[in-house]
Amino acid sequence: MRVMIVSDFEGISGVRTFRQVIKEFGRPFEKARILITEDVNAAIRGLKAAGATEIGVVDGHRWGNPPNIIDEKIEAGITVLREKSARDNFIKSCDAQVLVGFHAMAGTKDGFLSHTSSSILGLALGLNGQYVGETAWCVWKGAYTGFPTIMVTGDAAVVREAKSFFPEIKGVTVKTALSRTSAKCLPLEKTRRMIEDVATYALKNLSQFKVPETPEPPIEMDLVFASPSFANSVAIMPGYRRKGDRWLSYTAKNWPELNEAFSMALRLALSQLVNLQENRSRVGSEQGNRYVREFVCHAWESEFPPLPELKTCREKQIQPKQPKL
Ligand SMILES: [Zn+2]
Repeated sequence: MRVMIVSDFEGISGVRTFRQVIKEFGRPFEKARILITEDVNAAIRGLKAAGATEIGVVDGHRWGNPPNIIDEKIEAGITVLREKSARDNFIKSCDAQVLVGFHAMAGTKDGFLSHTSSSILGLALGLNGQYVGETAWCVWKGAYTGFPTIMVTGDAAVVREAKSFFPEIKGVTVKTALSRTSAKCLPLEKTRRMIEDVATYALKNLSQFKVPETPEPPIEMDLVFASPSFANSVAIMPGYRRKGDRWLSYTAKNWPELNEAFSMALRLALSQLVNLQENRSRVGSEQGNRYVREFVCHAWESEFPPLPELKTCREKQIQPKQPKL
């Protein structure tokens, strides 16, 4: 049995401030790398106990660049899939997926470090008239390839969010948010034990998980940014329509097109942050680190901007059913 683990950082046991998940803050991040590695190791042990024969780990936070998981401390025999080609290869014949250390979507008031893909952009993502977060995105990505996601770990808000989309998914709550930027964490020994046990339970009961339905194409994507300048830089991309100063939409024929349009939008919006980009290429320099710290602090210390209501009833859904031809 082949299982993929995708890890993020915000929902890891013991992580209680944003300074722990950003390398440019130095020591808090370096110490927290042990925390993420141990949560992933707990999931690995649990999956192995349930009969997983091949486990691939994707270090998802900031696309694993810089690395979050400490490769040398991962359970013996398990590889962190650092190359895109290795990830693409592994995903092809997976039987199940596990999400470790996830967080709730942008705008979730009781979600610890809640955001969608980029806290700096203050981005919210809608698909077919419904706001979605990184959990649903990852579950659907797996579903398109044909396997279910059986477990998610993180704060209480992400577990609630995941179950609202996918009621069967097993959740492990390792902390509760006290605000968007602080959390009350359960003891590490307890959460790691829970991650291990629930991973075993979920994989032993794999036959009870269905591959969830994916958003029906054409897929209508809404992107709402914190600032109009981010939306302006994305609006030049073919296919994007403007719905407001901070709000754009795009209609994709299928998932690959959606994926491409979304990644391109992220790249274009981030390119607005000239200082950030320039200094990222000089990672490690004190000035570069300072810029990144300033952007991150600003993003987390500002109030999350209000979100528009998306249309929940799509035109195509209220049209009479077309006869099959
Ligand atoms: Zn993250």
